[in-house]
Amino acid sequence: MLKVAKFGGSSVANAQQFKKVASIVAADSDRRYIVVSASGKRFTTDNKITDLLLLVNAHISYHVDCTVLLQTIKERYIELARELKLTYPIAQKFDEFAMHIKDVSPEYVVSRGEWFTAQLMAEFLNKPFVDASDVIRFHHDGSLNQEATAQLLQQLVVEKGSFVLPGFYGATSDGKIKLFERGGGDITGAIVARALEVDVYENWTDVSGFLAADPRIVNDPRIIHRITFDEMRELSYMGASVLQEEAIFPVREANIPIQIKNTNDPEALGTMIRETAEERESEHLITGVAGRKNFTAVHIQKAHMSTEIGFIRRALSVFERYHVSVEHVPTGVDSFGVVVNGADVVDTIYSIVNDLQKELVPDSIHIVEHLALISIVGRNMSRRAGTSGRIFGVLGEAGVNIRMITQSSQEISIILGVNNEDFNTAIGVIYNRFVKSEMVGTISQ
Ligand code: ASP
Repeated sequence: MLKVAKFGGSSVANAQQFKKVASIVAADSDRRYIVVSASGKRFTTDNKITDLLLLVNAHISYHVDCTVLLQTIKERYIELARELKLTYPIAQKFDEFAMHIKDVSPEYVVSRGEWFTAQLMAEFLNKPFVDASDVIRFHHDGSLNQEATAQLLQQLVVEKGSFVLPGFYGATSDGKIKLFERGGGDITGAIVARALEVDVYENWTDVSGFLAADPRIVNDPRIIHRITFDEMRELSYMGASVLQEEAIFPVREANIPIQIKNTNDPEALGTMIRETAEERESEHLITGVAGRKNFTAVHIQKAHMSTEIGFIRRALSVFERYHVSVEHVPTGVDSFGVVVNGADVVDTIYSIVNDLQKELVPDSIHIVEHLALISIVGRNMSRRAGTSGRIFGVLGEAGVNIRMITQSSQEISIILGVNNEDFNTAIGVIYNRFVKSEMVGTISQ
């Protein structure tokens, strides 16, 4: 077996965390390719190195002296190296970087967070350091050059066998540093996993996996041990997220599972994300529930609308004109709704309604604001009759008025619209009745 192990900012925040990483890596010889983020927060009010470096750039662009800031960053690395008894000349290397700071690009400055962290980690793990600018290759337009990257990484493995690589950045063929978006160390890990065709992409963080519901709404929600990529997309789209979204695509295409693990509790199972889950295993009916508040629905009604070709398209093109992304379109025979993010239409809703009125000449337009959408996700729901009936039943008992219903086409989720004020009650009831109380529900076919 071969694994990529990617360690996030909190996993490399201080010497104690470095030691945890070392024992995790030592515990499994399959963990051959290590990717690290820049050191993150050591305590809640602390700063991530990446944020400090972004601040350095802001100082430079406003011609404000950043000596003190650079000193703070330098001291964090010196402390790390001292506590871990490393020989890497961190002070000298940092000074060299600081001396030329005005001659390098802002991307280069930010990338040094992962660069220094990886230098120290490489020595601590006794593995070769590899600079991401030598192997993660970007096109000049900022997109990833997949073929070149895969080739460079494969060649690297032949030469070195095992390595520590800084995440979050790469370079064009002429050496210009490019960054992924924030949290992009996850993307680097996924790219390496795919290029080297590993068996598992381990993503080490500070939580023991993906939670079945928001812990701010339900007490001590269970951890989802197995989830499919589709289910995870549905849940993270609704706001539940552990992984950088873009990190999913490279591994998903190559059918490589991602395992979320907790550096502070390595024995915990974590969450395994795969393309498909084996059937007939003892499993939950509902994998998780998530949602978001503040949607707006615009309901349009017109008699015999269903016979008028292009009616819905014309309505949607009005939203497109105002650059509003449409989330859902629940339809009836002579009416349909267009559900959008409330924040996207605060300034434009009246103009949109006006245009709809003029262009569609409907019988009525009716707006519902302060709508919350809840996605109840479970790959097993499609195999069990009566699930939605039971969900509606418990929500009715709890006095929650359901304002909208849609189901994803693969039947892995049911999306409900409720009033904002019923949001917490609805999530709580669904969690308690379908996830918590069904901890070991067996699916029988
Ligand atoms: N250090 C970068 C950030 O803070 C990337 C990462 O942590 O994955 O966003």
